[in-house]
Amino acid sequence: MATADIGLIGLAVMGSNLALNIAEKGYTVAVHNRSASRIDEFTAEAKAQGLEQNTIPKYDLADFVQTVKAPRSIIIMVKAGKPVDDMIEQLLPHLEPGDAIIECGNSLFTDTQRRFDYLKPKNIGYLGVGVSGGEEGARHGPSIMVGGSKDQWHNAEAVLTAIAAQFNGESCCAYLGEGGAGHFVKTIHNGIEYGDMQMIAEVYGVMRDGLGMSAKECAEVFKKWNQGPLNSYLIEITGHVLDAVDDQTGKPLVELILDKAGQKGTGVWSAIVAQQMGVPATAIEGAVAARSISSRKDERVAAEAIYGKPNRAKTDVTLEDLEKALLAGKIVSYAQGFAVIAKASEENGWALPLATIAKIWRAGCIIRSRFLDQMSSAYEKGEAVNLLVVPDFVAIMKDSHLSLRKVVAAAATGEFPMICLSAALSYFDSYRQGQGTANLIQGQRDFFGAHGFEIEGRGSDLHGTWPSTLGK
Ligand code: NDP
Repeated sequence: MATADIGLIGLAVMGSNLALNIAEKGYTVAVHNRSASRIDEFTAEAKAQGLEQNTIPKYDLADFVQTVKAPRSIIIMVKAGKPVDDMIEQLLPHLEPGDAIIECGNSLFTDTQRRFDYLKPKNIGYLGVGVSGGEEGARHGPSIMVGGSKDQWHNAEAVLTAIAAQFNGESCCAYLGEGGAGHFVKTIHNGIEYGDMQMIAEVYGVMRDGLGMSAKECAEVFKKWNQGPLNSYLIEITGHVLDAVDDQTGKPLVELILDKAGQKGTGVWSAIVAQQMGVPATAIEGAVAARSISSRKDERVAAEAIYGKPNRAKTDVTLEDLEKALLAGKIVSYAQGFAVIAKASEENGWALPLATIAKIWRAGCIIRSRFLDQMSSAYEKGEAVNLLVVPDFVAIMKDSHLSLRKVVAAAATGEFPMICLSAALSYFDSYRQGQGTANLIQGQRDFFGAHGFEIEGRGSDLHGTWPSTLGK
């Protein structure tokens, strides 16, 4: 008998926590997983948390589907990539027109669009949903970015809205647009997350190696910053990470962790799509590159042996400079991220609501922060797409860009890598100057390729008379 409000397939970390969250909010969730052992583990956990009355474990896929009330909403939370396509094929024979598959993993938005287009003629709805907040978020309230079939969204809206994080009584779940819109926004969210994390790490490097601060001292600074304009989840957890002590050695744990960062792809996708659309997202690109360099530990050690240790004389930047530099860098990075979203919206006809996106990022997700509230207000007022020209952010940038400049300059002379903050500064300087240097580039392009250039008042496809360099 169909008694479940919703179904969920994939009971690894994210799926099992989402299912428990759904059950806790009073909805009945049928659950299924390829390996039976995970269903057993989930059932035991649901029992331990007193939620077993709202969960229906099903070992057989057909039986699982029949347990969900029609029109069915079935979440799949399996490994991204081929497993999602496989799962769709397995589900299809059991579904009826009007049912919907809600894919909540970290899928590439073009895959989501493809699956949406594939299922539409079959009258099966497809929702590609970005879920941010990790394990904790999935269990207690993530930020949920929904894209895909709008009609079927309404069938699942009550459940998804209820399980999302809340900010001032508003749910951090919203329908953003058709096709791959939800996964696109999640991808850019992750790109921004890369930028935030890298900038924080760069500032930590100056504290540690330039100001000679201990991990504990750094932790105190991040805790203090979390009370001010930088208030955010990532600043908060940075304080905790720097504070942690290794049980075995009594040393700060952070000093024992190898300086090699991993990545799973969403940062790279953000950088690629930004480049493809011609929108500069230098902070995201810098952050992705920094992770790649970090992973080449052996090469770095060998290069250090050639060049010698970096000459890190004590720097004269202050903690206040670092705080303001981080704020300025973050604003540039978010300005870039939202500009990428705005362009994708235009190119794909998604009509992505920028104010709503900023709103649903205010709680639950990894980049939640105080200034997203200001960003959503700015977009609600219909302000310009680039936050760097929105009055509230102009005021912050005017107050903070000198500090960013001072920190980047100190990094250059003190031999600190600052790939992300310096990229943010260069973008800011490029964006705010009326007269750039691309006139020279156009001259060069015309010299070797007759690409033409424009002169105000004289036309746009002009050519120079250049000397021949052939044979020289
Ligand atoms: P994993 O990405 O580790 O995937 C494991 C799950 O996928 C298991 O349920 C597994 O089933 C199932 N699976 C793998 N291959 C297949 C297949 N061919 N057919 C059917 N089922 C299959 O799980 P996570 O919970 O970590 O993540 C789920 C999704 O959420 C991923 O897309 C991930 O990128 C995304 N995500 C993860 C976050 C995190 O913090 N972990 C945060 C936000 C999103 P079985 O038990 O049988 O092996």
